[in-house]
Amino acid sequence: SSDPSISPTLGAAELTALRDRARSDYAELVERGLSLDLTRGKPSPDQLDLAAGMLTLPAGGHRAADGTDTRNYGGLHGLTELREIFSGLLQVPTAQLIAGGNSSLTLMHDSVVHAMLSPLPGAGRRWADEERIAFLCPVPGYDRHFALCERFGIELIPVPMTAEGPDMDVVERLVAEDAQIKGIWCVPKYSNPDGVCYSDETVRRLAGMRTAAPDFRVFWDNAYAVHHLTDTPVEIADLLALCAESGNPDRPFIYGSTSKITFAGAGVSFFGSSPANVSWLLGHLAKSTIGPDKINHLRHVEFLRDEAGVLEHMRRHRELLRPKFDAVETILAKELGGTGLASWSTPQGGYFVSLDVLEGCAREVVRRAAEAGIALTPAGATHPYGDDPRDSTIRIAPSYPGLEELEAAITGLTVCVRLVATEKLLE
Ligand code: PLP
Repeated sequence: SSDPSISPTLGAAELTALRDRARSDYAELVERGLSLDLTRGKPSPDQLDLAAGMLTLPAGGHRAADGTDTRNYGGLHGLTELREIFSGLLQVPTAQLIAGGNSSLTLMHDSVVHAMLSPLPGAGRRWADEERIAFLCPVPGYDRHFALCERFGIELIPVPMTAEGPDMDVVERLVAEDAQIKGIWCVPKYSNPDGVCYSDETVRRLAGMRTAAPDFRVFWDNAYAVHHLTDTPVEIADLLALCAESGNPDRPFIYGSTSKITFAGAGVSFFGSSPANVSWLLGHLAKSTIGPDKINHLRHVEFLRDEAGVLEHMRRHRELLRPKFDAVETILAKELGGTGLASWSTPQGGYFVSLDVLEGCAREVVRRAAEAGIALTPAGATHPYGDDPRDSTIRIAPSYPGLEELEAAITGLTVCVRLVATEKLLE
């Protein structure tokens, strides 16, 4: 994964030769007039086709297991049988799991809004009544988490990532001394973008740490809970249970969705937490909806069937995704390996590869790539306020393009990395 100490290992003559080759490769690249897109972690059309069978469901009528007519109003909690399927996968007891609409990001957004407008369980007052609120943001991280906070004037405090999750010495120190820090964003498994999985020790410390704020929440966005790329799925520790054991039962807000299981635009989202938090959120959601799309819930139940059905379906995704991640790794290793000009993550799951280039080069690499017809996520997007102070992290999303297009795009990207890095070093 990201190595902040990458330093070029080449001598001046080698470097000049490398730069000259990069210049001619880049000229050729521009000449090709590519139009490729590596920006967002979307499932490919092939992946969406895996769930094509869902479009003719529900086929067994419109009734849920308890007789509920899914076509009608009601059932804010979501269908029980769907919550049962995801309970183990998301490590939340069924009774404490809500199944909602098509976007977990919406549930994260609404959780923040409701905490602004109504005191959380354990809170003295509403977040809106605080002079200042801040969230910890492990970096690199997910730009939409940051954007959500920015929209409500929540200050973003970056925390460095390690191979085991956020640097817990920093997290513990900050939350213990600052009562205005109300949350931390966590993507605990196959993190966006660097693929990091939180160690048991990290999860234990998050659950047990002392926070100055009585209403501190861990925003546990388990977006990639079952999105394995290998035969040895990563298991993370059970945050909800560890928080309860540590006497902090209301600390976790757990999120997940089927966006990258079934349909990214027409899946089901989940929220899990303590009974007090679940009642709190349901009470507020009840003001905005009479209930979720239960027909979609039922469709998911018929299609996925049970936990094993979800895992089997994810195996099919993996068959499509794995060759793409392998191609990225192979090309990066072939073109940049041993040059000291870049380092990158080799994720065991999830949707992203994080590429670290020499300090001060990421923006220029992205600009050069765009000029050659390769669209990348803007450099800096992985950091709060779009500001990567080292200007070195580039997020690669390999899932959407076809394999040939992907190979062309990554090869082109490595040309840009070689060009920008060697020019910089020879400045
Ligand atoms: N959380 C993370 C970490 C993501 O990477 C994404 C999408 O890329 C989302 C949430 C969006 O989830 P949803 O589609 O359920 O809103």
